[in-house]
Amino acid sequence: MPENIVLHPESLMMSYGYKPELSEGALKCPIFQTSTFVFKTAEAGKSFFELAYGLREAGAGEEPGLIYSRLNNPDLEILENRLTLWDGAEAAAVFESGMSAISTALLELLKPGDVLLYSIPLYGGTNHFIKHTLTKFGITVIGFTHFHNREQIEELVRSRADGKLALIYIETPANPTNDLFDIAMLKSVAHHFSTPDKAVYLAVDNTYMGPVWQHPLKLGADLVLYSATKYIGGHSDVIAGACLGSKQLIQRIKTLRTFLGCMAGPWTGWLLLRSLETLKLRMDKQAHNAAYVAQFLAQHPKVEKVYYLGFLQPGTEQYDIYRRQCLSAGAMVSFDIRGDEQEAFRFLNALKLIKLAVSLGSTESLAEHPATMTHVDVDKAERDALGISGKLIRLSIGVEHHQDIISDIGQALERV
Ligand SMILES: *Cc1c(COP(=O)(O)O)cnc(C)c1O
Repeated sequence: MPENIVLHPESLMMSYGYKPELSEGALKCPIFQTSTFVFKTAEAGKSFFELAYGLREAGAGEEPGLIYSRLNNPDLEILENRLTLWDGAEAAAVFESGMSAISTALLELLKPGDVLLYSIPLYGGTNHFIKHTLTKFGITVIGFTHFHNREQIEELVRSRADGKLALIYIETPANPTNDLFDIAMLKSVAHHFSTPDKAVYLAVDNTYMGPVWQHPLKLGADLVLYSATKYIGGHSDVIAGACLGSKQLIQRIKTLRTFLGCMAGPWTGWLLLRSLETLKLRMDKQAHNAAYVAQFLAQHPKVEKVYYLGFLQPGTEQYDIYRRQCLSAGAMVSFDIRGDEQEAFRFLNALKLIKLAVSLGSTESLAEHPATMTHVDVDKAERDALGISGKLIRLSIGVEHHQDIISDIGQALERV
């Protein structure tokens, strides 16, 4: 194949970054279940440490040597290299959970006295870490919703964080209502408050769209974060996380990862390498199924409202953001059932094929009740303002046959 043809990421997931000749010719990357690596010579060990600790610049074509699995391991490095292809990132770092990716990135980019601006609602764990952990270290945190326009966001910063803004952190689409935040606009806000000696960064948790349907770095974000437990892992059998961005920022985050010790283990890395081979296939099928499910829900008399990106109306600001930043309507569909918590619970308890469980982005379809489960920790007033009420149900659509998913939803709605 000519050298200059750029292959699609899905064509590279089976081979990229792996050299069979370094592993006895094994076609597949083995699990490097080892804590430490043997140096050929003392000089090689010295040189690996010089690079790892940044004591000198890498020479042309020089790769960091393998030292110890808290610093690096082939399963992690190959996984990181493959992950960069989807987002067009310079570098990636993988973690033992989405939360460790998020908390390590936030701790590296913030220091006492700084202000963090964040979108509401956030994933429950992130919300807790920001409100209860970061604030213990003298970091001020300010939330905003998709109802805030650019002027209102800038006014929030001017009135409460003048000169102290360090990071904007968002999730878009917001979980569970699929509200969108404008990545390019928020990058421009970050830029507006940056000074020559202090850059304000924009970080985006892209878990909800996965690496296939939205590429925040290309829209201006400095960092993209994933719970790799969700679409990237995709089989509900592993907890993992990832963070991607420029070489310089990822190097900083990897250094903190080394000292917090929250890198992914080799077995986690291997499972994710396997999952990445089918990432595109799975996500395509999930989005395809979700479109059928959303259509079915929209015409059902027991359903009051459907929250699905594919239903945004042309001419609205949300639709414009959707067209600019999302490549698909995704596989997360939420809806308000006619009634309240009681009716929602009756529906959830009647499901057979779809499992009643939190998490998302996996091969099996899942259903849950945000107000009493994933979002129970969000302030009641915020929940009400955002429409996270007793009648709201969140579905993550899997790869089953779409008719089977729909008939399960249909029979459960009949029981309400
Ligand atoms: C699940 C999730 C997380 C946390 O990831 P873990 O892998 O469970 O630690 C963070 N953000 C979002 C949007 C999530 O859905």
